[in-house]
Amino acid sequence: MKRILVIGSSNTDMIVNVPRIPKPGETILGGRFLLAAGGKGANQAVAAARSGGNVTFVSKVGKDSFGKQSLEGYRLDGINTEYILIDENESTGVALIYVSEDGENSIAVASGANMKITPEDIQNISELIEQNDFLLMQLEIPLETVKAAAKIANHLNKKIILNPAPAQYLDDELLKCISIITPNETEAEILTGKNIKSDNDISDAAEFLMAKGIDTVIITLGAKGIFLATKDIREFITSFKVDAVDTTAAGDVFNGALVTALAEDKSLIEAAIFGNAASALSVTKSGAQPSIPLRKDVEHFLRLSTKV
Ligand code: ADP
Repeated sequence: MKRILVIGSSNTDMIVNVPRIPKPGETILGGRFLLAAGGKGANQAVAAARSGGNVTFVSKVGKDSFGKQSLEGYRLDGINTEYILIDENESTGVALIYVSEDGENSIAVASGANMKITPEDIQNISELIEQNDFLLMQLEIPLETVKAAAKIANHLNKKIILNPAPAQYLDDELLKCISIITPNETEAEILTGKNIKSDNDISDAAEFLMAKGIDTVIITLGAKGIFLATKDIREFITSFKVDAVDTTAAGDVFNGALVTALAEDKSLIEAAIFGNAASALSVTKSGAQPSIPLRKDVEHFLRLSTKV
């Protein structure tokens, strides 16, 4: 099986369920509390590992109990944590999340050690990049670090998957290194500078990104599914119908499951369907990493769905 390297953020999420999001100066009592590992990098690494992938995760945490707890969790998921760095001065990344009864959320992130992953840290692991087949990244660590990793991996002819989240504009120099890009609609709008209102706009956005030298563009469309575009394919693939409880990390689960399926040499379309199934299952549960399904559950779900 091909090997997957994930470089990205690791956070501890502190989630409080509240009747409604508190206003400035307001205190609301009665919330349920959930402490869970999160961060886009970690969520995607866990999703890839629970999907059955051979995963190494590169990240940076603080010298604190949150960091220690996160690493223990990743190890339990079978992830190689040997290359996760500990920052002596910064704290582990923390996200403070309110989730209201109607599903709205409000999030404040203290990036902490995540923003201390430097291009030099990446230079130091160039051999590790060489030993892996796929490199999966997001944008919750410094952009120059993402660029440094993309350049090395591109030079080594590795498949680079970029989930360009949180949304930001990216220059052509980075985009041309990417093999597969997986923006959601908002991220696709920021990357292309164009509003997306129709199916045509979605297809145009994919075209725009392919013209930058990216082979495969997958635009994720929430409950609608995905749009997949390559030189030969232009296809909407619908999502699976589920009762959504919490869509946090849906995109992360899609990316992690997708890369594992690709590492098993599944076709792009098969891999995208596997990603859709894994992410659909994840939105039926609360929290980021607690909601990430195991491969056997995704396979079971897929078997049930094809019978309908
Ligand atoms: P992000 O979480 O990055 O904003 P999306 O909202 O586009 O990304 O979700 C990513 C994928 O998760 C979708 O392409 C889809 O496969 C799945 N998904 C998201 N929301 C739902 C939902 N309500 N029902 C079923 N699948 C969903």
